[in-house]
Amino acid sequence: MGTHAIAKSVGLGAEYALKNRKPGQTALEILDMLCAPWRGCDAEWEAEDPQRPGYMHPEFYDYTDPHPKAALGMLMIEAFAPNGLADLPKYRTGTDEAEAAWWAEVYEPFKQRYDFCQIMDKDNYPAWVCADCGRKYGHRVPDVATWHEDTCGVCGKQTAVSEPRDFGHLRDDWVNERSVRSSDE
Ligand SMILES: [Zn+2]
Repeated sequence: MGTHAIAKSVGLGAEYALKNRKPGQTALEILDMLCAPWRGCDAEWEAEDPQRPGYMHPEFYDYTDPHPKAALGMLMIEAFAPNGLADLPKYRTGTDEAEAAWWAEVYEPFKQRYDFCQIMDKDNYPAWVCADCGRKYGHRVPDVATWHEDTCGVCGKQTAVSEPRDFGHLRDDWVNERSVRSSDE
């Protein structure tokens, strides 16, 4: 089963489970039920538009997002955040701190519990990407991004760059074109 099919199965399963939640059923019980079959799998969480298969979800990017309509994301917060759903507003402030807190407090424990593969190679993952590389390897084209002059972590050009997360982060198959090129020379 492909990485996106797993996301869809778990993401839509979470919606169904939340709607049909049994009294006293904990978020962790639901997550265990949904995620255990995929233990150790490489999952990408990009959400699909329920009305238009193959297109991005209009309201959130990943099923795991801290978004009120992302059932999986909400279950993750309920299960793993220090204060449960009370932490949702904190994660939704849109700051780097909020994203880092969500990553450490919610996403990492979730990923570790089900042994989902590391989506990003954090040591080599670029701090900055240029518009060309973002378009090539990112998940989406940003509406708003803040650009500044720096080195693109993918192609190595000194140009206007932005954060990979503005492009919905880079896909698993992003390559460090700079190191590929220098090994050819
Ligand atoms: Zn580039």
